[in-house]
Amino acid sequence: MAVDSNLSSPLGPPACEKDAKALRFIEEMTRNADTVQENLLAEILARNADTEYLRRFNLGGATDRDTFKSKIPVITYEDLQPEIQRIADGDRSPILSAHPISEFLTSSGTSAGERKLMPTIKEELDRRQLLYSLLMPVMNLYVPGLDKGKGMYFLFVKSETKTPGGLPARPVLTSYYKSEHFRSRPYDPYNVYTSPNEAILCPDSFQSMYTQMLCGLLDRLSVLRVGAVFASGLLRAIRFLQLHWSRFAHDIELGCLDSEITDPSIRQCMSGILKPDPVLAEFIRRECKSDNWEKIITRIWPNTKYLDVIVTGAMAQYIPTLEYYSGGLPMACTMYASSECYFGLNLNPMSKPSEVSYTIMPNMAYFEFIPLGGTKAVELVDVKIGKEYELVVTTYAGLCRYRVGDILRVTGFHNSAPQFHFVRRKNVLLSIDSDKTDESELQKAVENASSILHEECGSRVAEYTSYADTSTIPGHYVLYWELLVRDGARQPSHETLTRCCLEMEESLNSVYRQSRVADNSVGPLEIRVVRNGTFEELMDYAISRGASINQYKVPRCVNFTPIVELLDSRVVSAHFSPSLPHWTPERRRR
Ligand code: AMP
Repeated sequence: MAVDSNLSSPLGPPACEKDAKALRFIEEMTRNADTVQENLLAEILARNADTEYLRRFNLGGATDRDTFKSKIPVITYEDLQPEIQRIADGDRSPILSAHPISEFLTSSGTSAGERKLMPTIKEELDRRQLLYSLLMPVMNLYVPGLDKGKGMYFLFVKSETKTPGGLPARPVLTSYYKSEHFRSRPYDPYNVYTSPNEAILCPDSFQSMYTQMLCGLLDRLSVLRVGAVFASGLLRAIRFLQLHWSRFAHDIELGCLDSEITDPSIRQCMSGILKPDPVLAEFIRRECKSDNWEKIITRIWPNTKYLDVIVTGAMAQYIPTLEYYSGGLPMACTMYASSECYFGLNLNPMSKPSEVSYTIMPNMAYFEFIPLGGTKAVELVDVKIGKEYELVVTTYAGLCRYRVGDILRVTGFHNSAPQFHFVRRKNVLLSIDSDKTDESELQKAVENASSILHEECGSRVAEYTSYADTSTIPGHYVLYWELLVRDGARQPSHETLTRCCLEMEESLNSVYRQSRVADNSVGPLEIRVVRNGTFEELMDYAISRGASINQYKVPRCVNFTPIVELLDSRVVSAHFSPSLPHWTPERRRR
């Protein structure tokens, strides 16, 4: 309910004074998007004028957009690799940024098989927090009463390392959750979580998940919203409940914490929360023991008004499963962000997933947009509705005209700030969670596995394609292989093919292997051997649907249901990776 009509905002009546201020800020930034961008670039260029990077391009003190664009090239991570490596190795001179690089944020995008290292500076935390602070004021416009209960969010820290020069290297959310900004956040009735900080900050993913779920069960009637960063994370939490509900019921019945939870700070914090509650324990047993888990979210947390998870981009594959578990609750995709920079927020968070648009906030960084198929970057306010662009950012931390790799389509404007539909990330073939595998990585992995096949039985992989199978949780990569078994060659054994599965996993990038080993967010890779002639049938099918016979190329990833069904109907044997690939937090040097 609005507190005061004088506070009203074009976005809608704010729920409280604090919200009014946040909504005013959004209005101010989006109304003046071009000026904000112009001033922001001038500020970055003035501040970083003496950095090695900017000096190289002889800006001569200029801070205007035209000079900047005419002298500074648009780059990718690979172009910046030497500078990044020097900073990582301990060079503290102002290479990219006048402000000291405080840490590296490890992106889920990889380069040479390792996470990309994004430089950041201390004040970026304030900028990220500012964007976070705008989310609930917008949500409160659509869902009233969120101050009367809690959010059950499954949030995790991941392992971190130090670079040779001693800077922390960790994912952006790990950096945020470990910061004072998060840990010592002031009480805000609109932002109360069921998960204690002790559980969120526990580096052991099992103990963290266990405690967060237990707290969510204990507080089930207060839960008004349920979320995780990505849809895959929330589904993993549901799967976790499926696997461990009887342990939760046991703990709740007796008021004592499972002995596998050994983290002292969690044990101490839970001793104040966990009390015997046989009625709740019985309720959990009753709801969970049935095979039917439809609407489980609203059965256990009946006051849930919406799910707060990103289901845009690669996460769209999880929408039907989430609908099943939640009985069709709205799914709010609230923000769009990356390790390079946080970009913006969804001003209409209750919109259908297919209609989600993110409004880029012009105060976060300097943004440019390269039209798909074109070369000349345009300004934030000059993008055209309906057109697709690749996003390019210039950040306070020293990335200059950096290609993020995301393709966005303009759907409209809020004031003069454009709103974008996330179309896709460039060059991603397969993705289950935060892993992203591109075509050349998959090709290399198949080649490595094919060598094993050749050594052991003289056979080769004649054709292959892949599929991200998310029908089970966690999802897993499926490789369809058609084999070339030469005359006299032995048929590959099941053992050889399982070794091929593992070899492929060993060959994939570190984010994939971390997802397998540390996060348990990707299941064992599977090879499905299809009978000879299957890929020819695939081609016939494509041609029957209008593909050109001369230009036909085997798709290296399939997701069109009839094609997957065709492949599955030709499977002669299936083989899974028998163990985990190698992964350690330490990075391999180039
Ligand atoms: P990372 O640098 O690992 O944090 O990954 C950032 C990338 O995740 C972005 O560049 C996008 O490709 C993707 N991403 C982030 N937020 C969203 C969103 N709301 N919808 C779709 N994709 C997103």
